[in-house]
This record gives sequence, structure tokens and C-alpha cells, in this order.
Amino acid sequence: MAAHNKATSELEEEIAERLRVHPDACLRIGNFGFIELEDSWGDEATIVNTARISTTNNRLANAEAFSERDRALLYQLLRDQHGTPFETVYFRFRFIAPIFVLRQWVKHRISSWNEFSMRYRKPISEAYVPDLAARSVDGYAVLDDDAMAEYESLMSELFTWYERHYEAACARIEAARAEGILPAKSGGRDPYRGRARELLRNVMPVAAYSDVYWTVNFRSLMNFFRLRRKPDAQYEIRQYADAAYLLFSRRLPLLAQTMEQVLQESHA
Ligand SMILES: Cc1cc2nc3c(=O)[nH]c(=O)nc-3n(C[C@H](O)[C@H](O)[C@H](O)COP(=O)(O)OP(=O)(O)OC[C@H]3O[C@@H](n4cnc5c(N)ncnc54)[C@H](O)[C@@H]3O)c2cc1C
Repeated sequence: MAAHNKATSELEEEIAERLRVHPDACLRIGNFGFIELEDSWGDEATIVNTARISTTNNRLANAEAFSERDRALLYQLLRDQHGTPFETVYFRFRFIAPIFVLRQWVKHRISSWNEFSMRYRKPISEAYVPDLAARSVDGYAVLDDDAMAEYESLMSELFTWYERHYEAACARIEAARAEGILPAKSGGRDPYRGRARELLRNVMPVAAYSDVYWTVNFRSLMNFFRLRRKPDAQYEIRQYADAAYLLFSRRLPLLAQTMEQVLQESHA
């Protein structure tokens, strides 16, 4: 791969720091991927308390205060698709994933997205490289080592091409400024460099990594797990969905167990 640009080196340092500070909430995936459950709001008690607005004034502080009856209510609400109480618990994930994974992930519309922009920054100069497991079907490697060597060199060339042409565009813009052809930079974002980035990003492959904040309620997260942890989902998004599930289940184990039970019983 090409040498990392400044933004990518900073990102690597940031990932290392997040892993150091929040080891139980973070996972690495593939050659440059990352996921963190940065924050969550609400828990099993939030769900049961919300549902009980209909029937009682009894409220629980947290899942540790649950009786068998409370656990049974949680299960029954989920099994019988009483959807809205499950919309009151939120999760904020941050993940660094290849663009082709994001194309699939963003189809989950009931959630909020904020993504790294190649209009305002240079691309993350790292592309996804499938390891042997990702390249194999039933133990048979569908792409051999020669194909992978070419793949990596092609990706590297694209990042190098971007850097070369971005530097050249910047040099031309500054020369035109020096000659008075273009106006001097007046603070804020430079529209000329910005337009160069907008156009040069067109050569970036769907294997290039991007960086996302994803905020989602539990009802929608369960739908994501149901669809993207199944064997027919693509290997790479499955890896992220499995990682998101692991982080979620560490945070809210009772809700995770209840969800597993309901999904198994419904064969979903
Ligand atoms: C294995 C697999 C293969 C796929 N292949 C393709 C593909 O080839 N091409 C492609 O484009 N997509 C594909 N998808 C994406 C799929 O069609 C869904 O867009 C995606 O899984 C998001 O699911 P969702 O709509 O349930 O999620 P969300 O958008 O998060 O919606 C959650 C739920 O809200 C409700 N909802 C949301 N929006 C509406 C609406 N407008 N009207 C009515 N109800 C709504 C539905 O009940 C929905 O289940 C694939 C998905 C999987 C898992």
C-alpha cells in the first residue's frame, strides 16, 4: 500500500487511543477496519418502564432490578412486536469500513448517518485487502496470491495518483494566485482546492475506507442484526454486524439474550 497521508496517520493514532481507553467497546476488523460502540442511551428498564406507562406507575432503575416477571414482559413485548418501547433505546457506533460495505449499510434508513467527506479532506489512504478467509469459499481461494498482489498494487497506484495530482493542482492554483489570475485566499475553505478534491476523489475505489457515525434505535438495530448477521449477507458487512452485535451484547446482555431467543423462535 502507498504511504499513509497525514489524515490517515492521525486516524490510526486515534484508533490506537480509543482501543487503549475503551478496550471493551472497540474492535478492529480486516486490515484497517474499526468499530466502537461510543455511546448508548437507555437499557432494558427503559423499555419495560416505557411499556408500563399504559398500565402502572411502577418503574425500575435498571436491569439488575428485574424480577422474572419483568424479564417475561421484556420477552413478550419483543415477541409480540410491541415496537415503540424498543425505539426508546439508542446506540451510537463509529466505524471505519470500506465504501462497498457502507453502500449496503446505508440502506438501513431508520438511523442517522454522518460520514467522512472527501470534499473537505483527502481520502483515507488505505483500501480494504481481503485476507485468505475473505477470499475463500468452502476453503477454496477464489482470488490467488498473484491476483492479490496486483490488487494491492492497483490500490496503491490510485492513492499515489491522487496525491500527485492534488499536489500538482495545488501548485497550479498557488502559481495562478501569484500571477494575479486567481484571487488570494480569503480565509475559510479554499474553493479551488476544494473543487480539485471533489474531482480527484472520483478515482477512489469502493474498497477505500471511510469513517462513519451511526446512531440507531434498538428496534432498527435488531432489524440490522437480523438481516446482516445471516449467512446470505456479504462476508464483510457480516463481520461488522457481528462485531456491532458483540459490543451491543456486552453493554445490554439481557436485551441481547431476549433478542436471540425471539429471533430463534421466529426463525428470522
Ligand atoms: C442479503 C441482502 C441482499 C440485499 N440485496 C440488495 C440489492 O441487491 N439491492 C438493493 O438495493 N438492496 C439490497 N438489500 C437491501 C434491502 O433491500 C434493504 O434495503 C436493507 O436490508 C434495509 O432493510 P430495511 O428496509 O428493513 O431497513 P430500514 O430502511 O432501516 O427500515 C426498517 C423498517 O422500517 C420500515 N420502513 C422503512 N422505510 C419504509 C418505507 N419507505 N415504506 C415502508 N416501510 C418502511 C420497514 O418495516 C423496514 O423493515 C439487500 C439486503 C440483504 C440483507
